[in-house]
Amino acid sequence: MTEKTFPLTKPELEALVKKYPTPFYLYDEGAMRENARRFSAAFSVFPGFCEYYAVKACPNPYILKILASEGFGADCSSLPELILSQKVGLTGEKVMFTSNETPEKEFIYANLMGAVINLDDITHIDYLEKALGTIPELISFRYNPGPLKTGNVLIGNPEEAKYGLTRPQIFEAYADVKKRGAKRFGLHTMVASNELNPDYFIETAVLLFELAVEVQEKTGVSVEFINMGGGIGIPYKPEETAIDYDYIARGMRKAYDKILGPAGLGEVKIFFECGRPITGPYGWLVTQAIHEKHIYREYIGVDASMADLMRPGMYGAYHHLTVLGKEKAPHDQVYDVVGSLCENCDKFAVQRSLPKIDIGDFIIIHDSGAHGRAMGFNYNAKLRAGELLLREDGKIVEIRRRETEADYFATLDFTGLGKFEV
Ligand SMILES: *Cc1c(COP(=O)(O)O)cnc(C)c1O
Repeated sequence: MTEKTFPLTKPELEALVKKYPTPFYLYDEGAMRENARRFSAAFSVFPGFCEYYAVKACPNPYILKILASEGFGADCSSLPELILSQKVGLTGEKVMFTSNETPEKEFIYANLMGAVINLDDITHIDYLEKALGTIPELISFRYNPGPLKTGNVLIGNPEEAKYGLTRPQIFEAYADVKKRGAKRFGLHTMVASNELNPDYFIETAVLLFELAVEVQEKTGVSVEFINMGGGIGIPYKPEETAIDYDYIARGMRKAYDKILGPAGLGEVKIFFECGRPITGPYGWLVTQAIHEKHIYREYIGVDASMADLMRPGMYGAYHHLTVLGKEKAPHDQVYDVVGSLCENCDKFAVQRSLPKIDIGDFIIIHDSGAHGRAMGFNYNAKLRAGELLLREDGKIVEIRRRETEADYFATLDFTGLGKFEV
């Protein structure tokens, strides 16, 4: 069971919306820091452990700066994400570049920053060498175990996933980059998304540890780090339970001592690049009910839409909703809570039992601190919500303003219209 909480009372939120009207995202710095420390403490059983926060989950420099101050690095997969990391002082090997279908200039930029380049494919060795004029001293590969591992619903079976190198390619790739002058090596995989079974990660670690030993035997290459990727889930539903970081760390440590130690790989560093469990539970999309509609179903229309948070609309993902101040009221109504897109999938909740909602009620959408604002879009010319941060001293600061019409029109040049003959 996971209790769904919100850090502000109704009067506090009423005061806040006078300055920052809904919808907006709110993040809780103190809760994020507390969780980051628990994460680091659990995995400190591995010397040199580093969590590279997956920037895509919440690409806001203020959040990144907080996480960097907790010792986290950044996991990036695009040029703007690399720039964001640089802006908060994360460069060099504090940055992991786990990209795929990567344009040349992004490899060049990542290399200039000294980021760890994690290649998604064997053909990218040539591509990278051509782009850089050389092979970096440190290079990593993303492994796709194919039929050796079953994936989960969100990411699909590894065999059908576009990512990574096959098993035979992995051996070939290390031998190849070694020949081309690489001196330091890493190994990566990511085979799950939003997975709540801790044993899944221990099994994945065993797979990677055994592979690292085999790589050493077959190619003479000793990897210096093993990157477990992301994929640790969060309890979106109250009846689910959060992953126990200590349980994973202990299980991984046992496998590490059993498999890597005897092979002389007892110094290998362990990395993660989690996004979701790091910030997900500590962010909320705050909306207000602005319409009610009584047709074949009961609808509540809110001022946020799928353009602000697409997970429910895109893959039917569950996000818990609470009506602020009515948490204890009987949940005796059944609603579809919907946004304003001209798309019928724009629903934050479908046939959900909730307390009676009145116009003006605050509807809190929980667990929106990762893959929330970040996945927003501008369809229907919707302007995306801004982001607020609850600091540890109780002050609330705006860390991203909401979009304006001018932002939406920024890529258009209306002055050209006059000369445009039709
Ligand atoms: C998305 C992603 C992550 C982060 O995943 P979470 O589920 O947010 O923890 C890490 N690494 C790679 C390569 C990813 O694509």
